[in-house]
Amino acid sequence: MYKPVLGIIGGGQLGSMLSQAAKKLDIRTVIYCDDLDAPGQHFADEFIFGRYDDNNKLREFCYKIDLITFEFENIPFETLENLNKEKKVIPYPKINKIVQNRLFEKDFINKCDLRTTKYVYIKNLKDLEASDNYFPALLKTCTLGYDGKGQFRIENSDQISKLNLEFNKEYILEKLVNLKTEISVVLTRYGHQRYSIYDPIENKHEEQILKYSEIPAKIDNSILEKSKDWASILAEELDYIGTMCVEFFVDINDNLYVNEIAPRVHNSGHLTINAYNVSQFENHIRAVCGIEKIELKKICDAKMINLIGNDIHLYKGKKFNDNEFFYDYLKKEVKEKRKMGHITIIKN
Ligand code: AMP
Repeated sequence: MYKPVLGIIGGGQLGSMLSQAAKKLDIRTVIYCDDLDAPGQHFADEFIFGRYDDNNKLREFCYKIDLITFEFENIPFETLENLNKEKKVIPYPKINKIVQNRLFEKDFINKCDLRTTKYVYIKNLKDLEASDNYFPALLKTCTLGYDGKGQFRIENSDQISKLNLEFNKEYILEKLVNLKTEISVVLTRYGHQRYSIYDPIENKHEEQILKYSEIPAKIDNSILEKSKDWASILAEELDYIGTMCVEFFVDINDNLYVNEIAPRVHNSGHLTINAYNVSQFENHIRAVCGIEKIELKKICDAKMINLIGNDIHLYKGKKFNDNEFFYDYLKKEVKEKRKMGHITIIKN
C-alpha cells in the first residue's frame, strides 16, 4: 500500500502524538515548527525549524514530504494557501479561514442552523456601550485567543470603562451561557458521510484552561445524540477530512450550544489513546493519508487530567498503577499555565 511522507506543521504535544501514531502505521513524518525546542522533534523522523513565513524553509519542507497536515489552526492562512499549491494540505485551508476568526466561525455555525450563544461584532467603544442587552457577557478578540487569552468578562455597563480596552483589535461580545456542563465531540471524517465518532467527552476547566476530561459524559441521551449529530453536520458542511473537535456548552435547561470548532486533534481527545481501539491521532493519520478506516470500538471508561505548569514535578518518576497512563510532553521549560503532560486513568 502507498504510504506518503507526512508533513506536520507544529511540534507541540499534538504534533508529537500525531508522529507517534504515524510511526505505528509505518508512515514517516517531518515536523515543521517555529520553536527550536519543540518536543515534536523527539518523535518525528525529521524536524525543520523555521518561521511560518520563511518561504525558503517552507520550500525545503515541501521537498521532503508528500502531503501536509497541522496540529494547530492559527497558521497564517497565506502560508497554508501557498503550501497547498506545492503539496496538498489536509484538512483544507479554507476551513482555517473560517475558524481562525470567532465571528466567521459563529456566522458559519448559525448558517448551518445550529445554535450558538447570542453574539455581536464589536469594533469600538460605541458598539460595546450599545450592547448592554448582552450582559453578563464575555468580550473576546476575534482572532488568536485561546485558553481564555484575550477574554474579558463584563457583568454590566459600569465595568466597561475599567477595562482599558484597545480598539486596534476586533472583538466579539458573547452572552454568557448559564453552564450546566461542557462537552466536546471528537470525530474523524474519512469522506462523504464516512465517520468515526467518539462519544461526547465531559470537560472541566480551571481558569479557562481544560483540566479534566471524562467519558462517559453525564448527559441525557438526547444531548449525546444531538451533539454527535451537530458535530457531523459541521464536518460535512466543511468537507472536512481528518480528526476534528466540536466544543459545546450545555445550559441549566439542557439546551445545547456550539462553542467552537477545532480543525485538528484536541486535548479533550487524549483519553481516546487508552479508551478506544483507535485513537484520535491514529484516526487522523489514517484519514489524511488515505488508509483504511477501522470500526471504532470503545474499550473502557476513562478520565484525563491535564498537568499544567508545576503539576508535572509531582508525577515525574512516580510509580503508577496498571490503570494509570502518564504522558510527559518533554517540554524544555516549565511555565505557568503551560500544558506539560497528562494522565489518563482507565476504569473497567
Ligand atoms: P473559549 O476560549 O471560547 O473556548 O472559552 C474558554 C472557556 O471559557 C470555555 O470552555 C467556557 O468555560 C468559558 N466560556 C467561553 N465562552 C463562554 C460563554 N459564552 N458562556 C459561558 N462560558 C463561556
